[in-house]
Amino acid sequence: MFDVPAAIQCQMDLQSQNTLALPVTSAYFAEPDTLESLIDVISWANLQGLPIMPLGGGSNVVFCHDWPGLVIKYGERSLVVDDSLADSVLIKVAAGFEWHALVLHCVASGWFGIENLALIPGSVGAAPIQNIGAYGVELCDVLASVSGVYIETGEVFLLENAQCEFAYRDSIFKQALAGKVLITHVTLKLSKQFTAQLHYPALAAAIVNPQPSANEVVQAVISIRQSKLPDPLVIPNVGSFFKNPLVNNYHLSSLLERYPAMPYYPQANGQAKLAAGWLIEQAGWKGKSLGLVAMHAQQALVLTSQPGATAADVLRLAACVQADVAALFDVRLQIEPQVIEHV
Ligand SMILES: Cc1cc2nc3c(=O)[nH]c(=O)nc-3n(C[C@H](O)[C@H](O)[C@H](O)COP(=O)(O)OP(=O)(O)OC[C@H]3O[C@@H](n4cnc5c(N)ncnc54)[C@H](O)[C@@H]3O)c2cc1C
Repeated sequence: MFDVPAAIQCQMDLQSQNTLALPVTSAYFAEPDTLESLIDVISWANLQGLPIMPLGGGSNVVFCHDWPGLVIKYGERSLVVDDSLADSVLIKVAAGFEWHALVLHCVASGWFGIENLALIPGSVGAAPIQNIGAYGVELCDVLASVSGVYIETGEVFLLENAQCEFAYRDSIFKQALAGKVLITHVTLKLSKQFTAQLHYPALAAAIVNPQPSANEVVQAVISIRQSKLPDPLVIPNVGSFFKNPLVNNYHLSSLLERYPAMPYYPQANGQAKLAAGWLIEQAGWKGKSLGLVAMHAQQALVLTSQPGATAADVLRLAACVQADVAALFDVRLQIEPQVIEHV
């Protein structure tokens, strides 16, 4: 056995720290709020040979087992502004800042570009991991750089936007750097001039004013989301459980012959994005449950869980949905949240 520093808790219950409310614990848990204290807990865990996992709001994880090592929730919430540019500001925000609070703070301060990303749960530090996106805007549209530390060595890193390999719900942090870094700060470049981004039809339809303010866009996004998405505090969920699949033109044409009403969104690279929620509904899973988990009745893309549900229940339902969608459409749905299977 080894000595555990006072900053580290043992046997931490993570049920309230993941929005699917899965019953899991972490052997060790720390919430450092400075770079120095972060490096201390990383060094301690590395010395003991314990695996380290960063955690934010737990709104995009499926914990399959208890975590045998150290979970680190980086708590720093600072925000530093560089206002030296004429048309834009650079804001360096610490990972522990809550994403939606940041959106509101930016709009109130006259810094624009992330209004469409209002009400996405979770922390600033996790936002680059899957390049959060909604209503036609993605984090990568406004992100300047990401900084943090390498988990294995405690060394600091800084990656510019182009180095983060952002794509649809994807980044270098889910690929080559998966599990290897802890993000401490994200720097955004926001405009001082507001331009409404209303190319997403549902958002455009929700706004009556031809020249809406940033606040009106934020309020419209909030009300659309509240009408469609279950509140994780009431009905545990992680938002969209599957990514919207991409298909090539040949596949799209053959699907449209069979399903002329199928929604799709042409992409710049010649592919088309399909609506995973529509595919799931056609496969008969909208509002259908399997034991203690279900695909939501208002939004088929959202998998919900009831008290007592386990990760095995979640993954069993996901596999059934994937199999039925594949059989109907020859499309393999990919799970969007991070499935934490083993170390
Ligand atoms: C109701 C609901 C609606 C949602 N809507 C959207 C949406 O519209 N668009 C969208 O993109 N997502 C959406 N999500 C998913 C989720 O909110 C985002 O992915 C969010 O960025 C997750 O933040 P988090 O802090 O909760 O991350 P967590 O769930 O805590 O972590 C997610 C992953 O990031 C890693 N991680 C967390 N913090 C750090 C860090 N500091 N450094 C390195 N790795 C880290 C974790 O290890 C894990 O692998 C939704 C979720 C819910 C519940």
